[in-house]
Amino acid sequence: MRVFFIGFGQAGGKIVDMFVEQDKRMQTQSFRGIAVNTARTDLMGLKNIELKDRLLIGQTVVKGHGVGTDNVTGARVTADEIDAIINAVDSRGTHDIDAFVIVAGLGGGTGSGGSPVLARHLKRIYREPVYAIGILPAPEEGRLYSYNAARSLSTLVNEADNTFIFDNSAWKNEGESVKDAYNRLNDEIVRRFGVLFRAGEVGRAGVGEMVVDSSEVINTLRGGGISTVGYAISEKISPRTKQNQGLLSGLVRKKEKTEEVLTGEDKSAKIIALVRRAMLGRLTLPCDYSTAERGLVLLAGPPDEMDRKGVEKSKSWVEENIAGVEVRGGDYPVQSDYVAAVVVLATIGNAPRITELLEIAKSTKEDVLKSKEKRSNMFDDGIEPLFE
Ligand code: GDP
Repeated sequence: MRVFFIGFGQAGGKIVDMFVEQDKRMQTQSFRGIAVNTARTDLMGLKNIELKDRLLIGQTVVKGHGVGTDNVTGARVTADEIDAIINAVDSRGTHDIDAFVIVAGLGGGTGSGGSPVLARHLKRIYREPVYAIGILPAPEEGRLYSYNAARSLSTLVNEADNTFIFDNSAWKNEGESVKDAYNRLNDEIVRRFGVLFRAGEVGRAGVGEMVVDSSEVINTLRGGGISTVGYAISEKISPRTKQNQGLLSGLVRKKEKTEEVLTGEDKSAKIIALVRRAMLGRLTLPCDYSTAERGLVLLAGPPDEMDRKGVEKSKSWVEENIAGVEVRGGDYPVQSDYVAAVVVLATIGNAPRITELLEIAKSTKEDVLKSKEKRSNMFDDGIEPLFE
């Protein structure tokens, strides 16, 4: 599918920059992206998004220094300058796109506050669906980050057509700081969502056995709410196997026919195993996958490794394991040494991490209110002020 990415804030900008880089490297022209920020230095640090597609907002308020962790200001500045943002989107071209995807860290200020505002306006103006990839802060970043993320997410789920969650805390290694992990985490994000959002694009490697088009991704996400993504790759496909399947497949002699059947069985078994690994492994938001309303299974890899039966069986297996009955799926060929499987578990009903986040936010809010009350009581001793 053709995706228009908007990277909002520091994390969002960096990640969209990587999507654009991936698209250039793969020569697919599926992705385009712009970056929006209140901090000039963050925009300057990007490498692949063209300079004219980097938009600095809120200059009169924060003078290019960013809003810090104040997401209320982030939201206000975005609302005030929404016309400039929509102009930037328009001038980059939207006539051939299938969806918008807003990417942001939800714990900070600009992306956290701005994303829901932008989602609302994009939905109002364009017919294409508006999705978000929201990054959750790790608890070690402090309660303010969790509070911001909870507030932002509660708003975003009502504005975007669907919100994918990536949980930083689930993906950083034990003992590693979140900051040290950024590059690795961003790489994980771009790999998964790159496969997903390229679904339906016809590449140089040809057309798939079971083509998935963008409408199937869109239908999977139609239920709204939050979604999570699983991913796995096969072991490296050896050149020998590739050569056998490629050059020699038309020359199979009678004796080798039985071997061919076995190879077919083997191929579908490999695909099913890969899809199971994707869904049972670490999800972008670890959660109870059995509460998902819809599913999407996608395979990307060398054409010779694709297998219709394998995809069908994998879809049935996913269907048996989630709450809903709608599971879509297919494959698309890419020139690669690996097969990648992506499983989208859409509209999740139960995610302990989100419940925890909302609880931290609630207790933080209570504490903030209490300390505000204390402060206002301190001078409440009957002494009259000099003037009102
Ligand atoms: P903003 O610029 O005000 O929107 O704030 P940030 O984008 O810095 O958002 C802060 C949140 O995003 C924090 O929870 C950070 O841990 C997280 N974050 C910042 N940069 C990155 C990044 O490059 N990758 C990931 N995965 N998270 C990031």
